[in-house]
Amino acid sequence: MMANPKRGGRLVMIMVMLGLVWTQSQKPAQAQTSSACSISYSIVRQWQGGFQGDIVIRNTGTSPINNWTLTWSFNNQVISQLWGGNYSQTGTAVSVSNMAWNGTIASNSSVSLGFIASWMGSNPIPSNFQLNGIACNGGITPTATGVVPTATRTPAPTVTAIPTATRTPAPSATAVVPTATRTPVPSATRTPAPTATRTPAPTGWNPPSNLVTPLNEVWQHVESTYGNLYGFRNYGWDQVIAGNGSINYCVRWDSDAPVSAALRDQIHASLARQFKKWMDAMLDNGQGTNGWPYTNVNIKVVGWAVRDRNTLQWSDNSFDIYVNNIAENAPQCAPPCGRFFNQDGDYSDCPGGFDHHYDMSLWLTKGMAGGAGGDWGQRVGSEYFVNNLNSENIHIFLHEVGNTFGLDDFYDWTPTGINSFIMNAGSASQITDFDKWMLRDFWRHLKNRYGY
Ligand SMILES: [Zn+2]
Repeated sequence: MMANPKRGGRLVMIMVMLGLVWTQSQKPAQAQTSSACSISYSIVRQWQGGFQGDIVIRNTGTSPINNWTLTWSFNNQVISQLWGGNYSQTGTAVSVSNMAWNGTIASNSSVSLGFIASWMGSNPIPSNFQLNGIACNGGITPTATGVVPTATRTPAPTVTAIPTATRTPAPSATAVVPTATRTPVPSATRTPAPTATRTPAPTGWNPPSNLVTPLNEVWQHVESTYGNLYGFRNYGWDQVIAGNGSINYCVRWDSDAPVSAALRDQIHASLARQFKKWMDAMLDNGQGTNGWPYTNVNIKVVGWAVRDRNTLQWSDNSFDIYVNNIAENAPQCAPPCGRFFNQDGDYSDCPGGFDHHYDMSLWLTKGMAGGAGGDWGQRVGSEYFVNNLNSENIHIFLHEVGNTFGLDDFYDWTPTGINSFIMNAGSASQITDFDKWMLRDFWRHLKNRYGY
């Protein structure tokens, strides 16, 4: 899970500043459309045959730029993926126009674009940028200043993102015992402990007495088997806190099945409804337990990644759309916008910045049985998720979200007296009381890192 690449590699860091100060006031008609501007172009990283580039368009004038199109000519580079704008490339000619959300560049502000491109032979810096048809033709100043070192931000190959059949066996219908028949009776009737209303436990830690032993067993097992339990800082917890109570998702649509706007919205609604089940497990009478600060965690889908833009049957720019950016043999949303790749929370290379970042991926793969979950998000079958949009519990997905919040799997043991729960894959079809208390126990052991 930890991205810690020590990739030597050759990093080419070049920043080119092309500045044009347009102060001509004798021609009002032109002055209206010719804001002062500068363009910076940087190669964030480069590898044999490819590179990632950043372009920053800065309005150095005094009036805003409304709607922009940036054009330039490449030499022998071909863009395969661009974020922060709508792009087209014909031969060497590239044109990028604004998205709906970044069409206005205020005075002394900038917008940024990112892209992945291939190159052949050499990778020279373009020199003929034009913003709304007007050349920004200042001098070229190659410098590494201002380029964020990429070595620490390059994601390791996401081995953990590749699901294996053994990680999460697809529960068979016959193996799933309805949990209601096996879940212990709610403790209130069995545990004559002081009630919350009479004696609020200061720590908020008051599990039902019959769960205390198995919960302790689970935590001892976690402590003895997790390599970096207390040092790892990208659990779902870290992400919710970093987002101040909200989680942004990007959907990796690893399927050629078309997605209508209605299906898109249903997927979002189901995602939010399922995620809420875990977050509600942190609440007692509508209040966060044990200092948990959020009574509601907002789930927002900010982007979609697909192989072919035509798979998505809407044309507006209400979502960031990433086309044919392939990683792990599946469409991926832009790394500069992803929490997994930017665990320091620095989204300065993400066009649109923090608002357009995504914490987790909902990775929906055609034909997949079972699932996988981790700090990067959750992966389940696309047909499975779509066919269960209206299910009360999309239980494989629920299990994977549990993994995202650090909860363990139970492949080779079960805690004393507890057999049926969502984290014991295939044994339950909904979050049980034991799952709920495991979640709360994780928070109990981590909360001090957030000052709770
Ligand atoms: Zn699992």
